[in-house]
Amino acid sequence: MNKDLLMQLKRVTKTYLMGEVKVEALKESSLDIYQGEILVILGPSGSGKSTLLNLIGGMDKPSSGDIIFKDRSLSKASDRELTQFRRHEIGFVFQFYNLISDLTAGENVALAAGLVNNPLPTQGVLAQVGLEARQYHFPSQLSGGEQQRVSIARAMVKNPTLLLCDEPTGALDYHTGITILQLLKQTREAMGSTIIIVTHNTAIGAMADRLVRMRSGSIAEIIVNDSPLPPERIEW
Ligand code: ADP
Ligand code: MG
Repeated sequence: MNKDLLMQLKRVTKTYLMGEVKVEALKESSLDIYQGEILVILGPSGSGKSTLLNLIGGMDKPSSGDIIFKDRSLSKASDRELTQFRRHEIGFVFQFYNLISDLTAGENVALAAGLVNNPLPTQGVLAQVGLEARQYHFPSQLSGGEQQRVSIARAMVKNPTLLLCDEPTGALDYHTGITILQLLKQTREAMGSTIIIVTHNTAIGAMADRLVRMRSGSIAEIIVNDSPLPPERIEW
């Protein structure tokens, strides 16, 4: 594993106010993220996984603590700087794909390509995810697995430093889920991206270079996996 440090979370806390009640979604959590690794964040529902991922992706700011990306502080960044960070450095893949329903698969990907200075070629990325023949289809005409491929293509075309995936297989059947995990792994091999996968499915942890276990808003454990399994050998 390449050990170049990409991002550091330092005692990061995220508190939400629900009326009078404070919810500590993330408590004093510290984590180093390395270039090119596959990090899997595991934990039960409500343990703070999405909160952690959204902070890493600059979708939200910590209530306290610091997040350093390549020597820059994201916690002190302006909204404009955070927007630039998300646009240029982050690709996001969601459980329910979040595609634009009145754009075709190809247009969804091309739209993302238009956001950055040096996108990968849209056609090439569609081919990489096996969707060349589906590019003129609308999301409603595609299966769940195909929609998730479009959503990965949309994230990949930006050639992001960090590819963040929140429950990417959560809405898919087992076999389709495995092909999506294979695609994520291939993306790392082909482009050297850092990939972070959030899941409540413990089996997926087997493909990680490192595994982060969340419990009640805290990082309970960080495990280095010396022999990650290829996704096709994972079962659940
Ligand atoms: P997970 O992704 O592991 O299921 P989340 O990070 O979504 O967990 O949520 C962690 C905790 O923070 C939960 O108790 C959740 O209800 C709460 N939470 C998350 N987002 C918000 C929000 N925007 N406002 C209030 N509470 C929130
Ligand atoms: Mg979540």
